[in-house]
Amino acid sequence: MAEPALVPFDQRQGSIWYNGRIVDWRDARLHVMSHGLHYASCVFEGIRSYNGKVYKMGEHYQRFHESARLLDFTIPHSVAELEAATIELLAKNSLSDAYIRPVAWRGSEQMAIAADKTTIHVAIIVWDFGPYFGSRLQGIRLQLSRWRRPSAESAPCKSKAAGLYTICTLAKHEAQRAGFDDALMLDYRGLVAESTGSNIFLVIDGALHTPCPDCFLDGITRRKLIELAKQDGMQVFERAISLDDCDKAQEVFLTGTAAEVTLVRQIDDKSYTEKTITMRLAKLYDQEVRPQ
Ligand code: PMP
Repeated sequence: MAEPALVPFDQRQGSIWYNGRIVDWRDARLHVMSHGLHYASCVFEGIRSYNGKVYKMGEHYQRFHESARLLDFTIPHSVAELEAATIELLAKNSLSDAYIRPVAWRGSEQMAIAADKTTIHVAIIVWDFGPYFGSRLQGIRLQLSRWRRPSAESAPCKSKAAGLYTICTLAKHEAQRAGFDDALMLDYRGLVAESTGSNIFLVIDGALHTPCPDCFLDGITRRKLIELAKQDGMQVFERAISLDDCDKAQEVFLTGTAAEVTLVRQIDDKSYTEKTITMRLAKLYDQEVRPQ
């Protein structure tokens, strides 16, 4: 059955925070001669609010600032200003369970590799958002990607930089075309890295194992999950993870702001049927983001 046509994002209704002002959704435009568009001088964040409370807003906006610094530019609004803008915007759009997308990019004063005289633009967009993977607790299927995460010498891999998502989109498209939900990406060494938009954990003999985040984002959800698992008495190993480890694992799951805790039920043709520990951690994470 054909999916219902979605309203394109630029034709939706609501309000957007744009360079310090709240504007009508459809007026939040930029010129085609924007450096961010041509040269990917652009960073962004992905944040969620639950029951009207923004989860880890300060940490996300600090990472936003750090992402820009790694791309050699400075966001011209403090973390506190961005936090206040987000609260105002959620109220203005009457949203309590939302996805929040801050984005910052270089403007149009220069159209060349060098761009240090460009103005930095910042927008915050909020929209209604449910689970990223509809079947997050039933389990998703990952395809091993041919695309690999670059080394820290080859890319600013600690930045949530738009350009780094080029290979994620390619990997995700290939996986989806082959009937999978997402891709599992190795790093430049051939070690397990992450999926296209979330971190990965393995459960091996009751302990958690997750790759060291030395060439990809050390996700805010990843760090929280490690903390929750340790508090729950589990052993957690951050270490080099190989595909052999994935074969040995009894359970696999992903973590991320959008993905939350998402069970993985298959990687290529290897199936995982266990899910007890993943369900337990997913519950702890749900209680963390939606405290009663
Ligand atoms: N890796 C990538 C490539 C991502 O896009 C994300 C989502 N920001 C993550 C990991 C998870 O990060 P977080 O838990 O901070 O959302």
